[in-house]
Amino acid sequence: MNIVFATSEMVPFAKTGGLADVCGSLPLVLAEKGHTVKIFLPKYKMIDAALFYATQELDLIDIVLGDEVVSGKVHVYDYAQRVQVLFVENDDFFNRDDLYGTSENDYPDNDRRFIFFQKVLLKTLKAINFKPHILHCHDWQTALLPVYLKTVHKEDPFYEKTKTFLTIHNMAYQGMFSSAAFPLTGLSWDEFTVEKLEFYGKSNFLKGGILYADVLTTVSQRYAQEIQLKEFGCGLEAVIKQRRNNLYGIINGIDKNEWNPETDKDITVNFSINQLNKKYINKGVLQKENKLAVDRNVPLVGIVTRLTDQKGLDILTPLMPQLAQMEVQVVLLGTGDKRYNKKFAQFGEEYPDTFGVNIMFDAQMARRIYAGADMILMPSHFEPCGLSQLIGLRYGTVPLVRETGGLADTVIDFNRNTGKGNGFVFSEYTKDALLKTIQKALEYYKNKELWRTIVVNGMRCDFSWDASAEKYIELYNKEKKKDLMYA
Ligand code: ADP
Repeated sequence: MNIVFATSEMVPFAKTGGLADVCGSLPLVLAEKGHTVKIFLPKYKMIDAALFYATQELDLIDIVLGDEVVSGKVHVYDYAQRVQVLFVENDDFFNRDDLYGTSENDYPDNDRRFIFFQKVLLKTLKAINFKPHILHCHDWQTALLPVYLKTVHKEDPFYEKTKTFLTIHNMAYQGMFSSAAFPLTGLSWDEFTVEKLEFYGKSNFLKGGILYADVLTTVSQRYAQEIQLKEFGCGLEAVIKQRRNNLYGIINGIDKNEWNPETDKDITVNFSINQLNKKYINKGVLQKENKLAVDRNVPLVGIVTRLTDQKGLDILTPLMPQLAQMEVQVVLLGTGDKRYNKKFAQFGEEYPDTFGVNIMFDAQMARRIYAGADMILMPSHFEPCGLSQLIGLRYGTVPLVRETGGLADTVIDFNRNTGKGNGFVFSEYTKDALLKTIQKALEYYKNKELWRTIVVNGMRCDFSWDASAEKYIELYNKEKKKDLMYA
């Protein structure tokens, strides 16, 4: 099968969150299973310039954006001996410090930037004569592609056999822009109605994708259910419901080789399920690095996250002074909303014996936390999939999570009587429920035998990509066959 991934993030090139991990792993697994996969990604500033010596440059492509013509260049890069990454270059749009904006504001021309990206993709596929069976789009940044295929390219024989998939990684980001900018899309005003892309006077790119994609997926089954509800649908619950027969939840995996405590080069000492004592060397290093007391017996809670409301920080912050009174250490690595950056930095200064606070994005430090912490805390308000809990499980770091989205699908509350379960789970979104669960976990931590059972249960879980990739392939095939059935 010919498969094209359209994405705004991909590990190892550009990442703000889980979307990048998915697009860095799934295409490689699909390629291993015999499919031809090409991935389109903007050529951002942070992508290593040296890499472009090894690319093949295609001819310039001109794109009409409203009454302007903007040129883009595509660099084709053979990656990991399995897939091709097509970097879309336009320095005005993508040669910036961040992907979507600063910690204060989104870039004001995000509509232009990603309309351009998508239009370049559609033209490039023709230029290289690569007809995809599946065009797999991700989030609002590429959600117009299904719209283009069903409108502008409806009669286009080149895309006749192309089926579109839209994976929603997060309903909270929809790509909403002023109606005045709608002509940039090149779509007819007929598309700007309440039944289509219009959403309270604005154009909503994700809504377009939801309505037009052949298949919708979310990154966990629970989240596919949740987004049909007002609490999680972010205003699009009715639109999602309308498409529920074409909506599937497939849990994300993690790359087994990339996330492996036995081989991870960024941690101090490698360890495995049979050498858990070595994990605690990493704990000591982490404590030292964060100027916390180096003590194997004090439970250490890790938090690796974007600092946004989604992540449950509003029920966590009121507990911080209380945690400072308890027998616990907390190491936080995160960056995001300015007010949270500030608040957590303050906690770090106020309670240096309890909190190690690192306001930054640092992929290596994240690994040291996964390896060295005893627990990984995710009190999320909502969580489409969540990767930190999966990484935590693999590194013997027990997840403490709220029962939502992918957290609910992957973490099972430990039951002392049966010895089953891989973490701690609470349901009610309140600081009290969170505190109670933290207290319970700290209590269990005191019992070394019991704790070891939870750690081992977690390390035995298999959340690799293999099973999930098979589910995508099954859906791709099902969709492809529909044409044959109706032919
Ligand atoms: P989301 O996609 O909502 O941000 P996920 O849990 O799905 O949340 O994925 C987050 C990914 O980003 C994980 O791999 C996590 O380790 C990583 N991550 C988040 N914040 C940071 C940070 N400040 N530094 C390094 N890695 C981070």
